[in-house]
Amino acid sequence: MTVRYRDGIEIELSDGTRIVCDADDPDGDVTVVSHAHGDHLPDGETTAVCSALTAALGTARRDEALHRTTDDRVELLPAGHVAGSRAAVVTDPDGTRYCYTGDICTRSRFYLSGFEAPDVDVLITEATYGEPEYQFPDHDDIVDQILDWLADTDAPVVLFGYALGRAQKLQLLAEQAGRTVYTTDAVQRVNEPIAEHLGVEFPAANFDESVELDVGDALVLPMTTARIGWIEDLAEEADAKTAGFSGWAVDSAYRFRGNFDTAFPLSDHGDFAELCALVETADPDRIYTQHGSGDAFAEHLTSEGYDATTIKQNQTSLSEF
Ligand SMILES: [Zn+2]
Repeated sequence: MTVRYRDGIEIELSDGTRIVCDADDPDGDVTVVSHAHGDHLPDGETTAVCSALTAALGTARRDEALHRTTDDRVELLPAGHVAGSRAAVVTDPDGTRYCYTGDICTRSRFYLSGFEAPDVDVLITEATYGEPEYQFPDHDDIVDQILDWLADTDAPVVLFGYALGRAQKLQLLAEQAGRTVYTTDAVQRVNEPIAEHLGVEFPAANFDESVELDVGDALVLPMTTARIGWIEDLAEEADAKTAGFSGWAVDSAYRFRGNFDTAFPLSDHGDFAELCALVETADPDRIYTQHGSGDAFAEHLTSEGYDATTIKQNQTSLSEF
């Protein structure tokens, strides 16, 4: 049997069944979608093994239906990354168990339960922050720092985070700090299914040109808009302070690259220590790493005695089973 990374990750079982995870144009026997971030969603109308919330978010974000189905060979586990995200545990008829993580975070925070690694034979894991320098502070300490900054900043604030993930947490934190919260349609479209499925209330009003940002206000914007001219102008006109939120903020260069007044390492991924701990728990015979520090993490795992390689697109890797 084989694990390949072509269009998404493909797991071929001993009976020839092809399970295809997070592909743009899935062509397998079973399609899996781990979560509703753009680089994991299929193009066009698709039926996939995914959570009900991922189906709702995928449909809301793309204007093309993502239908949910189930398959006896695929079990979904909460991945702790963003609302609705799941890791897939695939069981081969010969008993071999695979885990495809998608993006993961093992820290429980806000309305998300951290990923708990299953015991598997083959682990295909993301390794976005798979190098020792990526060490995130304790989650509660980051939250305290953000709340202190929101309370101490005597100006409107513009907070940048991914539309699905950080943007929801930033709305909750800004509200907790007593600010009036505004956000855009793109974020509201994501808020609605999450509110419906998880029962979390998001406090934001819609932001448009009629809104003048005041000292006690917080505007939550998608990270992709951080370098758009009119938003930079708007922040300047309102004399607002800007903040970026990402795991990359452990590196001080992040704040300067993003031209933010400040930055916080609030992440929806696991850091290096979390990735190491999850490998230890899963205790697999074979590990494939992908994304970010995939090479470095596979090298680290190999030095620890694991059978680990990074899986690159269009390289085929025959497993030893
Ligand atoms: Zn993601």
